[in-house]
Amino acid sequence: MMPQDKRRGVFILSSLIGSISTRARLILLLLAALLPMAGLLVAGIVLDYRDTTEQAYQELEQLAQVASLQQSELFSATKSLLSVVRLTPGVTADGGDACRRLIRAVRDSNPQFLTMGVFDQRGNITCHSDLDAPATFEDQSLVRRVLAPQAPRFVVGDFMIAGATKQPTFAIAMGLPKVEGFVRGAVFVSMNLTRMGRAAKGLTGGRWETVTLVQPRSNRMLVQHPATEAPVGTTFAGHPLMALMQSRSSGGVVEGPGFDGVERMHGFYPIAGAETAGLMLLVGTDSDAVFAAVQHRTLLYSFAILGVFLAAMAGTWWLGYWTQLRPVQRLTSSARHIARGQFSARATIEDWQAPEFRELGSTLDQMAVQLEAGDAAEQVVVASEARYRLLADNTLDLITQVDEAGRRVFVSPASRNMLGFEPEDLLESTSVDLIHPDDHPALERMLQQLRDGTPVIGVQLRERHRNGHYVWVELNGKPLSPKGGAIFSSRDITARKEMERELEEANHKLSMLAATDGLTGLANRRAFDETLQREIARSVREQSELSLVLIDVDHFKRYNDAYGHPAGDDCLRAISSQLGKLLRRPGDFGARYGGEELAAILPHTSLDGAAGWAETMRSAVADLGIHHKGSPFRHVTISLGVSSYPSGDAPVSPAGLIKLADEALYEAKGAGRNRTELARRRPTASARGELRPGTRTPASGDAGMVDEAGSHGAARTRRPSGRM
Ligand code: GH3
Ligand code: MG
Ligand code: MG
Repeated sequence: MMPQDKRRGVFILSSLIGSISTRARLILLLLAALLPMAGLLVAGIVLDYRDTTEQAYQELEQLAQVASLQQSELFSATKSLLSVVRLTPGVTADGGDACRRLIRAVRDSNPQFLTMGVFDQRGNITCHSDLDAPATFEDQSLVRRVLAPQAPRFVVGDFMIAGATKQPTFAIAMGLPKVEGFVRGAVFVSMNLTRMGRAAKGLTGGRWETVTLVQPRSNRMLVQHPATEAPVGTTFAGHPLMALMQSRSSGGVVEGPGFDGVERMHGFYPIAGAETAGLMLLVGTDSDAVFAAVQHRTLLYSFAILGVFLAAMAGTWWLGYWTQLRPVQRLTSSARHIARGQFSARATIEDWQAPEFRELGSTLDQMAVQLEAGDAAEQVVVASEARYRLLADNTLDLITQVDEAGRRVFVSPASRNMLGFEPEDLLESTSVDLIHPDDHPALERMLQQLRDGTPVIGVQLRERHRNGHYVWVELNGKPLSPKGGAIFSSRDITARKEMERELEEANHKLSMLAATDGLTGLANRRAFDETLQREIARSVREQSELSLVLIDVDHFKRYNDAYGHPAGDDCLRAISSQLGKLLRRPGDFGARYGGEELAAILPHTSLDGAAGWAETMRSAVADLGIHHKGSPFRHVTISLGVSSYPSGDAPVSPAGLIKLADEALYEAKGAGRNRTELARRRPTASARGELRPGTRTPASGDAGMVDEAGSHGAARTRRPSGRM
């Protein structure tokens, strides 16, 4: 066989076996178990048949013997009788009345004999039980045999039809005692075959069907009981039974058709005493009758085993379903449901089922329970994941996740709007790339904080847009443990930043406005107070000098009166402008102190320095040449009072410095206006006249001045006399 053919053969065989269902397999198993039993039964039946046959043969043989023995007894009785009769006086070859009387008496008392008589040496009947007239003996062969010299004394003849009775029979003859050395006659009997048959019938006892007297030598059936269709004496030359009887003179058994053609079992045995005729007794019995019992048994056993087979098959079929197929079907169905994802399925295996099935069922159920729990959890995860993805996809905030190396592993679609990049473009690159270089330190701080495990909130950074410009973003970040990495949500705050910037600007403007005097554009009084306070503190801190100059327009009431209030405003603006121009050093500060009074704060400036500056200011105003008809100088002039820090050992306050400057101004007014006066804490200092050359000192000297700046009190008017 080629290997390929072999493989195909194996495949066909395995698919054939594979198509056998569980129940069919159980049935096959049952058959395999029952088959030896069936074999035993068949063997038993065969043995039964054999034993029956053997027994039947034995019985047949015995019966044939018994029957032949019985017949033999008949012959020996006949022989004895004939022995007696031949010696009886009166019984001679010549016959006579005496002979006839005797013969008739004997025959009448022996019904087994059909006829009885004596024949002489020529074969003529001389004395006969039934015949009165002389007659010739039918069986001349018998005559010759019995009269022959050295002949056996007792000879059985062949089948014949008796002349006297015309009935079938055979004769038995015994020679008479010799006369002068010769046998001159013989006494004979012809047998009553019917009676023999009846006697044989007694043998059958109802068990044996046929008893037949056969003379194989002449192929002749002498008599049979029950009578057959064939007449008594019919020859059966060539009949197998006859041939066998001829060949086996010692007797035997055989199965085959009888002389009537009916199949039988036969037993045959030679009849002792009738050897000269070669008679045999044949008994036959119906084979069916012999085997009836065993056949009955066979039938019974066959039905019984068939019944057992069917019952066992039905039982196996039923049990196979309930104990094998049903649990397997349930387990299969449950497994199929689980395979389809229907984890609520349970394999209900009854308590009475085999432990293997129950264990399998409970294992399957446990599996389903675990899968169900897992599925529910997974569904929750899927739902929340979907929810978060929905949020991440649709929120304007950009959601990003970075791994422990800082590479983006997730970027939400908001990146398109916020940074102009597709989410995929940003994956696998680090977050540092897009951050403005100036914000790198802030970014590094934020990343470190995340590495330390602390969330970050509201970190503002600039990220580069795809178009190149930077976008302000506000970041919230949360570290992801234990995997590492972090998740960020960032929001575009460019618009807010812009608003904040604008707001700041507006606030600045507002505060500027709040600190500025509307008319002159100089700082207002509030700004002045704040600045003075701050500058004094700084000077104290730095141990540096600071000067304050108070400026008052001379006879300004008259100017207003003369030229009108708007003109007065213009005049004030012009003087203020001059003041702005002269405040050149950083830190110099000019303000409108109130009404037509201005002030200048000069940090890092000594009293003398401030005096110089005040003179420059006074000249600059005078040089404006604003016509003032109410002024003795005919143009607009200003008077100035200067105070300075440090101005002594005592600590200074804004009010103190202002007071000193105000007093100096008062002095200037009093001294005729259009002049600068310096504050002097000590009369000596004032008296020494420390003004630079060219400055006009008041005419009244240190009028009104006291040693300490604050001693005058705030209520004191600085205006001397002559006020308008
Ligand atoms: P003195 O030389 O003593 O300073 O005399 P004066 O008239 O300047 O002083 P006074 O205090 O008597 O008058 C001040 C005047 O300044 C009164 C007021 O009408 C005027 N004035 C104050 N503020 C303004 C202003 O903003 N615009 C105008 N046009 N006039 C103002
Ligand atoms: Mg004034
Ligand atoms: Mg004035």
